Parts: sequence; structure tokens; C-alpha cells
Amino acid sequence: MTQLYTRSGTEYTGSVQLSAKGKPTYTYQVSCTRCHVINGQRLYVMGMMNGKPYSHTGFDCWGCGNTGVTSTKTAPLYTAEQLAKLNATADKRQAERQAKREAEQALAAKELADKLATFKAEHAEFCVELNSLAGEFWNGFRDGFYKRLQAPTERQIALVKAEIAKLQQNVTSAYVGAIGDRIEIAGKIERVITTESFYGIKHINIIRCENGNVVVYRGNYLGGKDDAVHIMATVAEHTEYNGVKQTIVQRPKQK
Ligand SMILES: [Zn+2]
Repeated sequence: MTQLYTRSGTEYTGSVQLSAKGKPTYTYQVSCTRCHVINGQRLYVMGMMNGKPYSHTGFDCWGCGNTGVTSTKTAPLYTAEQLAKLNATADKRQAERQAKREAEQALAAKELADKLATFKAEHAEFCVELNSLAGEFWNGFRDGFYKRLQAPTERQIALVKAEIAKLQQNVTSAYVGAIGDRIEIAGKIERVITTESFYGIKHINIIRCENGNVVVYRGNYLGGKDDAVHIMATVAEHTEYNGVKQTIVQRPKQK
């Protein structure tokens, strides 16, 4: 007799029945998942502990009437040839589904890329400026901006323009005076970095002079960001920080 298989490909060795249409079938019992034999007694199971089922109730199983079987099912059996054909059809269908899914994903990716390209063309000036900026903050800014695809706000435009102006000034920033000179400084506070240590609170006041030069004073607080500064101070040092020429001053006096 021809060897028969279940749908999952297991060789079937039990008794074969014929369906009303004369096809080979077999019957099997569906095991109850609610109960288990524990120490020779079938009990309703509460859960698993250390990989073993446990029961604190000691109740019989209501799921299967304590038979351990919930139902009996009949399923078709197949010859090796039939099974191969069935599997080939299933594989083909799955490959088709996969191809369809990939095509849909490719289309969605293309639509998104087109949308992004259109958006970048619409806001070309801002995008070019934004793309020229580096560093963690601007990378995050850019990621968010291109994800939202919403026109830049006035505030965002101002922020980017200010950063670009600052970078341009950084390139041309020059040392001011000679060491020991008493110089006049007029500009704006660009940034204040406040540090606290054993010796107390210290402020690093970074001043952008009207002509774009960077002057740094470490000591007292001279003002907040964008506050105007007009002082006399003594040149202590000329130094370069991140490629920007800075003049370090001491003993500032309001002018
Ligand atoms: Zn049961």
C-alpha cells in the first residue's frame, strides 16, 4: 500500500478511513490544554512552575470532563506526490504574497522619496542652509524636520540663519589687541557657560563683537544671551578654540 502522510508531512501509520468521497482520512484526538496528569491524577492546571504543570486546586478538569481529550477530528491524508503538489502551490502563493508586499514597500518608499524631493525643492534655500550645519543638535533638528515635512517656521529660519552667520564670523574672527592691552569691547553675549566647583560659581561669557571677533571673559556674569555688552578689559591671552580665534580678557569694567 502507498505510504500516506498528514498535511504537515508526518508519515501516517495508523488506520485509514475513507471519506464519503472515497478519499483517505484519519481521525485524531485533540488533547486538552487545561489539564495534566500529575502524580497519576488528572487535574486542572493552574500554570507552570520549573517547567512542570502544577495544580493547587485539586479540581477535576472542566475543559474536557477529565478525559484529557476535548474533541476528535478527521483530517485528510495525502500521498507523497499529492503532498509535494500541495506544498508547491502553498510555496508559490507565499512567494507571490511576499513579492506583492515587497512591491508595495518599494512603492511606499518611492512615494516618500518623491515627497521629500518635492519638499526640499519647495524649501530649497532653507534646506541647503540646514544641510550645511553639523553637530548633534543640528542632526537631530534635521531628522525631525525631514520627518515632519512641514514648512520651516519663522523661528526655525531665524535659528538657522543665526547659526550660519555665527559660523561665517567664526572663520573671520581675529585676535584683538596685544597681551596686556586695555581694550574697548562692544558686542553681544553669544553664550554663557556656568560652572560650579569647590571655588564657587564661574561664568564663561562668550562675547561676539560688532565686527565678528570672539572675546571670552571667565569670571562674573556679564549678562544673558543676546544682551548688549560694552566694556573695557585687559587682554590676557590669544587662543584658538575649535578653530575659532578667541581673545581672553580679564578685569572687565562697564563703559
Ligand atoms: Zn482537561
